Amino acid sequence: MHGPSTHPWVEGETLGTHLEERGVDRREFLTFCGKMVAILGLANSALPRMAEALQSIKRPSVIWIQLQECTGCVESLLRSAEPTVGDLVLDVISLDYQHTLMAAAGSDLERALQSSMAENKGKYVLVVTGSIPTKENGIYCTIGGRPAQEILEEAAAGAAAILAVGACAYWGSVQAARPNPTGAVGVRDIIKNKPVLNIPGCPPIGDVITATIAHYLTFNRLPEADGEGRPLFAYGKRIHDQCTRRSHFDAGQFVEVFDDEAARKGWCLYHVGCKGPATFSPCPIFLWNTRTSWPIGAGHPCIGCTEPYFWDTMPPFYDRLPGVVGFGVERRADIIGATLAGAVTAGIALHATATGIYQLRHRRQAEAAEGAATAAAATKEDSSNG
Ligand code: SF4
Ligand code: SF4
Repeated sequence: MHGPSTHPWVEGETLGTHLEERGVDRREFLTFCGKMVAILGLANSALPRMAEALQSIKRPSVIWIQLQECTGCVESLLRSAEPTVGDLVLDVISLDYQHTLMAAAGSDLERALQSSMAENKGKYVLVVTGSIPTKENGIYCTIGGRPAQEILEEAAAGAAAILAVGACAYWGSVQAARPNPTGAVGVRDIIKNKPVLNIPGCPPIGDVITATIAHYLTFNRLPEADGEGRPLFAYGKRIHDQCTRRSHFDAGQFVEVFDDEAARKGWCLYHVGCKGPATFSPCPIFLWNTRTSWPIGAGHPCIGCTEPYFWDTMPPFYDRLPGVVGFGVERRADIIGATLAGAVTAGIALHATATGIYQLRHRRQAEAAEGAATAAAATKEDSSNG
């Protein structure tokens, strides 16, 4: 975990020298670069280039602004798997401005932001966590008396690259869930004249943030992204296609309730609500908690936190996902006559239909109850008027 530095950065010093000063030897540094290369899915031949690029950089400026959010994304990065990784990003590379981690506060801190933006204009990496409230002139999130939107627009204008970290900065997340009382939106809804790389998750995995910054510093460009602006090295595959429980899905072995024998045996969580078939994320590969485990590995279904609008589209979180898309492999298995896989596919279709019918019935019951309540209220009002 990241701790305060005992070796402050010296003007003009390279990262390689700085790390040496801090007791990080060459082997540790190369191990870190090797991990970044592996996470980014690059060929081993990229390792010398990354090592050369990173060790020779002079302190690049990273400005990190936190808007309407819970600080979970910063917590996630602080708990990156390697202590040197946390140091590299938070102590060595960034901290030109990060209001949760900096010792300064109040107007001193806001002045630090202004001077850092002015000194590094056109060169700094802007990291944004949190959504931007747009209703009531943005009064729901202000820093130093200024609304989040104004702070973001100003910081984005001088940035060389913009990273929207976490579900909030990506699309608004829980604040933007219906009925979205603050009019919360993501960075891409405000900043339209520059590319924004989205690193989704609630929170995202810290190593993905670190690897993205390492990629930018090595190649002077952001990693390749999908149509949603998410880096492909991390979000290019569905959880379902990388899941350690996948063989149980294919074999039709499902947990039905959380404490049944199937749960103890580690079978598939689809029937208790897993959204892995509709979620693109590297959780099964990069893992969580210093690479010890991940939600599905620990027995909890994926709730789809890397997908846009998941608070509204993925519930009920503990019910089967109706209308799952992307089951091509299972359908092919059905066609070639793999009886068991065919039965599983049929079972899923049945469950999805049943879930749809249940939800429809539930919605109709709720609408009927609401209609009855409105009629009763109208009758009461009539009789009191009469
Ligand atoms: S449904 Fe969920 S638990 Fe089952 S294999 Fe897919 S991702 Fe894994
Ligand atoms: S398993 Fe799913 S819900 Fe959990 S962190 Fe990963 S993407 Fe988010």
